[in-house]
Amino acid sequence: MGAERALNAAGFVRKVGITFVWGEGRRPWDADFASQNEDGSFPADTEFVWHVERARYDAILVDCARRAGVEIWSEARAARCLRREGRVAGAVVERKGEAVRVSSRMLIDASGLNGFVEEARAARKWLADLKNVASYGYFKNARWPRIYPGHPDKTRTFICSRPEGWFWYIPLGRGLVSVGLVARAAQARRREGREMRELFLAAARRAPELRPLLDGASLVAGMDPSNPERDFFTAADWSYEAGRAAGPGWLACGDAAFFIDPLLSSGVLMA
Ligand SMILES: Cc1cc2nc3c(=O)[nH]c(=O)nc-3n(C[C@H](O)[C@H](O)[C@H](O)COP(=O)(O)OP(=O)(O)OC[C@H]3O[C@@H](n4cnc5c(N)ncnc54)[C@H](O)[C@@H]3O)c2cc1C
Repeated sequence: MGAERALNAAGFVRKVGITFVWGEGRRPWDADFASQNEDGSFPADTEFVWHVERARYDAILVDCARRAGVEIWSEARAARCLRREGRVAGAVVERKGEAVRVSSRMLIDASGLNGFVEEARAARKWLADLKNVASYGYFKNARWPRIYPGHPDKTRTFICSRPEGWFWYIPLGRGLVSVGLVARAAQARRREGREMRELFLAAARRAPELRPLLDGASLVAGMDPSNPERDFFTAADWSYEAGRAAGPGWLACGDAAFFIDPLLSSGVLMA
């Protein structure tokens, strides 16, 4: 599809591993995809993945798929499965105020946590022990010291545990870092909107590793194309045990098929 070439050209930051500060010992330790040179830099041919801005990344994939001949309907919603002789045989799609019947030999459910195919949704077991809530935002003017996220050309995800839960710190570009806090849902219960935002910012200020990185940084809007004004986000209820990811005439992929904890930032790669 030419996606790799397009992604290389997009200039996304390259991730070469993860730095953790976890538990009581606050010494940072790394889990890198390759060994560092003696001076702490990485060899030119180090294995890497990209740290992408999701909206830009999705737009690149859509563009590559379209060029490869895929017909893409935006502003459409798959409403229900069509079934024939015990198999999934297509979907009814709501588009421009009409219900369109689309038949398929194999339907791929890539609907994320929503889950489109009922058999897969019904077979999910929700994990009470992992009932978490995430608060997150994107900061401009945040720092990238080598000890934590690495270097602007080859970076690491930085993860640190805190009494409230754990933080991610993911450099996305020279001026942009994604910062999020994953906390127990029980602690965050009954708090929403502005209060969640203030709690998130206060928790980041209390974290000794994050405070100096975020000194002088501020939240930016414009990261969510569906709501360009927003500069703070929350997410909840993403942890489930998958019971079923395929059946006659259908298969699921990504979050529709299985849950992956965001700790290792591997969800999009797996999807
Ligand atoms: C707090 C948190 C932090 C995370 N951090 C990271 C990270 O740092 N790195 C990483 O790689 N992953 C991360 N993940 C995981 C990552 O977000 C998911 O694994 C990834 O988005 C899954 O991709 P997907 O395409 O399967 O689903 P999604 O990204 O959810 O996409 C599904 C799409 O299907 C559409 N859709 C749903 N239902 C329908 C329907 N009926 N008809 C038409 N369209 C429909 C939705 O609108 C959406 O566009 C994180 C997750 C959480 C909860």
